[in-house]
Amino acid sequence: MKIQKQQSNISLHIPPKMWLQFCQAMLKYRSMNEEVIGFFFCQRQQISKNKIRYIPKAWVVPLPDCYERQSASGLVLTQQFHWHLLKNYLSEGLDVVHIHTHAGDICPEFSLVDDRYESEYSRFIASHFPKKPRLISGVFDESLQKSQFRIWDRKGRSYQSIKCCHSWLEVGENPNSLSNINSMFIRQQIFGDACQKHLSELKVTLIGCGGIGSIFAELLGRLGVKNWVLIDPDRLEPVNLNRMPGATQKMAEQQWYKVDYVKYLIKRIYQTGSCVKAIPTSVENELAKQEIASSDLIVVATDNHLSRQVAQELALEYLRPLVCLGTHIDIKKSDNQPRMYCRVTVPPLGGGWCLMCGNIISLQRAALESAPMEINQMAAGAGYLEGVNDPAVFWLNSICASTGVGIIHGMVSGFLNLDAGIDWIYEFPGSVWHKTNVEHLETHDCYFCANGK
Ligand SMILES: [Zn+2]
Ligand SMILES: [Zn+2]
Repeated sequence: MKIQKQQSNISLHIPPKMWLQFCQAMLKYRSMNEEVIGFFFCQRQQISKNKIRYIPKAWVVPLPDCYERQSASGLVLTQQFHWHLLKNYLSEGLDVVHIHTHAGDICPEFSLVDDRYESEYSRFIASHFPKKPRLISGVFDESLQKSQFRIWDRKGRSYQSIKCCHSWLEVGENPNSLSNINSMFIRQQIFGDACQKHLSELKVTLIGCGGIGSIFAELLGRLGVKNWVLIDPDRLEPVNLNRMPGATQKMAEQQWYKVDYVKYLIKRIYQTGSCVKAIPTSVENELAKQEIASSDLIVVATDNHLSRQVAQELALEYLRPLVCLGTHIDIKKSDNQPRMYCRVTVPPLGGGWCLMCGNIISLQRAALESAPMEINQMAAGAGYLEGVNDPAVFWLNSICASTGVGIIHGMVSGFLNLDAGIDWIYEFPGSVWHKTNVEHLETHDCYFCANGK
């Protein structure tokens, strides 16, 4: 048996909530100190030539009566149960992650028995299912704190070790490796070099490069994010100039795409070392969708419901964190005073509640927005759709964009716990932050976000 040299960067990324539920189940179904096993069934996603991410689609922890034998030195599942599991999930083209525990609290090593068993298992599944699934295996200590993971080839002859993470964002190769922090970031070094490095490796997709998106990009760019995918089909117009930093009359005259204008903002921050893909299409475009799926984080700052729905669906499918930004201004009828709001929403990673079941967007409006142009215009005329002429001001958009950037900073450096999701609404001139009690948003039967296990 060979141990492969690190050939590609393979990671298994499990959302924190799913990981917690999995661990609780693992610990619950153990009465003494016997070994336990659990499964994740994962979709393989090729992010780049050398980078592969595994996304869990389901997990299973067998009940005690699924075992033929279970002791501190080993375990065997009943054949019937095991076959049922594999048939159910591997036929769909998923790969299997097999996790077991070893007794004790030291960092566990795969045993010779593990090697032999897993080698046979890899061969078995690759030859019994048409999509030739692969085996990833993980071994944990008995309290599920320390672990090792590896992926097998289909012949069961060799394996390579892989990373498993269960935070919101995958941490890069060597978050603690010494890197020269650019003097540009000295005043924010208090947040740590690892945080700064992580920011510089993060790939962020921004959907909507208008009044909120452009400020957001300027702020997050200055914080240290260099890798961007920008998606927006619109061009700059004079009516945008009241709220786009650095945008000029000339750009509007030349009808710059908004994505090119935001790209210009990022390139103005980083003369070298940044990577910005500007995609001047709507979010439903296939290329745009692929880019969204392969990024680390999705931010949606558009003024329509359809793009938010699409972003949320992709975020759920590929288990990407989603940050949703919006503002609203209207005039109160009773006293003719303006009411102003900004809203920042981060649904929990991997489901629990989402923009749709949380009623943060309206599916009805999303459907209208996807209707053919004539119906769309009719609906807009009748006041069913928001239009480009909705009131918007720079300063309110800035509060929203700043808060979104602060949340991402917290997500990266760990000073903010987002596991249950957040939905914050700022109200002006009352100057109050309303924080939705997200427990009330928890849904179990949402068409979009209910996850199987
Ligand atoms: Zn073992
Ligand atoms: Zn939902």
